[in-house]
Amino acid sequence: MTVPTIVLNNGVSIPQLGFGVYQIDPDETKDATLAALEIGYRHIDTAQMYGNEAGVGEAVRASGLDRAEVFVTSKLNNAFHAHDDAIKAFDESLERLGFDQLDLFLIHWPLPGIDVDFVETWKALEEIYRSGRAKSIGVSNFQPSHLRRLIQDTEIVPAVNQIEVHPYLTQDEVRSVNSEHGVATEAWSPIAQGMVLDDHAITGIAAEQGKTVAQVVLRWHIQRGDIVFPKSVTRSRIEENFDLFDFELSEGDMGLITALDKGHRTGPDPDRFNYIP
Ligand code: NDP
Repeated sequence: MTVPTIVLNNGVSIPQLGFGVYQIDPDETKDATLAALEIGYRHIDTAQMYGNEAGVGEAVRASGLDRAEVFVTSKLNNAFHAHDDAIKAFDESLERLGFDQLDLFLIHWPLPGIDVDFVETWKALEEIYRSGRAKSIGVSNFQPSHLRRLIQDTEIVPAVNQIEVHPYLTQDEVRSVNSEHGVATEAWSPIAQGMVLDDHAITGIAAEQGKTVAQVVLRWHIQRGDIVFPKSVTRSRIEENFDLFDFELSEGDMGLITALDKGHRTGPDPDRFNYIP
């Protein structure tokens, strides 16, 4: 199975399908990630906030793959937006992962209501990028206003903006602002943590295709051009979520799924979320 790659705005390639490890217990992360790597995933999405970076690093080493064959993303925790804190927190991520370089490092949340402006945080990420310790840098949960200000006030355009996207939250505005600026969209909670799996419109398409509802939804993301990394601790589902490349959704079916949008978030609203752990 060949997973397509997306070329980011700095020329770096990222596998369009990856494996997310949010809410995987630190003790289970190595095994779940190793299962994903055995199945063929070559892209893992973790974060300082998930507390399981060490397990990701252990799985990459246990897989026997070259470090360069696996694209690994992590994200800055909300408590570390001040410049020096961000640099130190990044170095600690590398230590926990046991890597000397990260493929992609993101500001996890813009936190528009806190004292530290995300522009300061981004300047720390620019330094990390220039040092070569992160091959790409990006943002997560940035609304169009946040992204525009960041691009206007800093030098490096983020490679990605990782935002919540699924059939009940299609995010057309943020996705189009991302692409206007050459920023790739990464879709988090791509199956809305399971919430979209009973939707009758999608179950109908799945039955016609002879695929599962999760596969149809993930295929919808792939055909829209977004990067996805579904999470599962269940080996059969990790396999299922990787098996997306032997069928295609028609334009009509793509449109039917997109029309399910109801602006429904499973996670916080980035304009109002200012949580610091
Ligand atoms: P997902 O939309 O990937 O859904 C995960 C849930 O769906 C789990 O309960 C899993 O169960 C279940 N599931 C997975 N595959 C299937 C399947 N084929 N059939 C039925 N159920 C299935 O949610 P996440 O919130 O985990 O999002 C994915 C990734 O996105 C995260 O792991 C993280 O990397 C990233 N993310 C980023 C955020 C950010 O702020 N930047 C916020 C949230 C997520 P089980 O594990 O029991 O099999």
